[in-house]
Amino acid sequence: MDAKIHVAVAGASGRMGKEVVKMVLADPELRLVAAINRSHEGVDAGTLVGLPACGVPIKTDLDTALQGADAHVLVDFTTPQAVLSNSRIAIGRRVRPVIGTTGLSPDQIEELDKLCKDNGIGGIIAPNFSIGAILMMKFAAQAAKHMPHVEIIEYHGDQKLDAPSGTSIKTAELIASNRQELRQGNPQEEETIEGARGGYYNGFRIHSVRLPGVFAQQEVVFGGFGQTLKIRHDSYDRAGYMPGVNLSIKKAMELTGIVYGFEHFID
Ligand code: NAP
Repeated sequence: MDAKIHVAVAGASGRMGKEVVKMVLADPELRLVAAINRSHEGVDAGTLVGLPACGVPIKTDLDTALQGADAHVLVDFTTPQAVLSNSRIAIGRRVRPVIGTTGLSPDQIEELDKLCKDNGIGGIIAPNFSIGAILMMKFAAQAAKHMPHVEIIEYHGDQKLDAPSGTSIKTAELIASNRQELRQGNPQEEETIEGARGGYYNGFRIHSVRLPGVFAQQEVVFGGFGQTLKIRHDSYDRAGYMPGVNLSIKKAMELTGIVYGFEHFID
C-alpha cells in the first residue's frame, strides 16, 4: 500500500491521453496503474509517449485492465461513444471518473452522479480543463453585467467538426446568465452574404474561425460608449490542460458525486 493516487488512463494513445500519461508519470504523487486504448495493445505506455518504459502495457478492454490494477481514478479522453460505458464500468469498480471527453448529455451526467453517490465515490466531468480558458469565461461573465453588448470570436483548426466550439457555448451560457436578453445590432440590418453576422445566441453573435495552423483561441469583445473591452485566451499546446487534469485527479479523491465543470475549483 503506498500513499500515491493510482491512475488509469482511457484513450491513452490519443492526443490528450498521451499528455495525461506524461503528466501522471512526471508527478511523484501519482502512479500510472493502467492504460487503455482501442489500438496499440501491449505497447508500453511510457514508450508510447516517448519516455522510458514504465511497465504499464496498453490494454484494449477497460474492465480487464481495471481488474487487479487497484486504480483510484480513471481519466477518460476517448470519444463521445465510449465515455459513458467506460464511466459506468469504472464507477462499478469504485474507480473515480475524471472525464475530459465531451458530448455527455445532462441525463447521462445525472446518471453518473447517482452511480457515484450510490458507490460512495466522487468524480469530475469538465468540458475544458484549461485554467486560462475558465478564467476567460468567468471574466467575460463578470464583464457582461456592466457591458451587455458582446460578441464572441472563437478560432480553431480547420479539421474541427463542431461549430461553435463547446467553450464558446459555455461562455455564452455564462454571459446570458448575467445579462438580460438584448437583441444587438441594427434592427434593420441585413446579411448580404449568409452567415456574415455569425451564430445568434441570446441576442448576441458567436463567430467561428476555422484555419490550419490554429489550435484553440477565443476572444470575447464588449462594446460600450466610446470604449471596447477584449478578453482573450490562447491555447498553444495540449499540455496546457494538464494542470487542470492533475488538480481534478487529486480533488476527485475528496468528493462524493460528480462535479460538472472545472470552474468549480477556481475561485
Ligand atoms: P483522439 O486523439 O482522437 O483520442 C481519442 C483516443 O481514444 C484514441 O486514441 C482512441 O483510440 C481512443 N478510444 C476510442 N474509443 C475507445 C475506447 N472505447 N476505449 C479506450 N480508448 C478508446 O482525441 P483527443 O483530441 O485526445 O480528444 C479526446 C476527447 O477529449 C474529445 O472528446 C475532445 O473533445 C476532448 N477534449 C477535452 C478537453 C478538455 O479540456 N476537457 C481538451 C481537449 C479535448 P483509437 O485511435 O485506437 O480509436
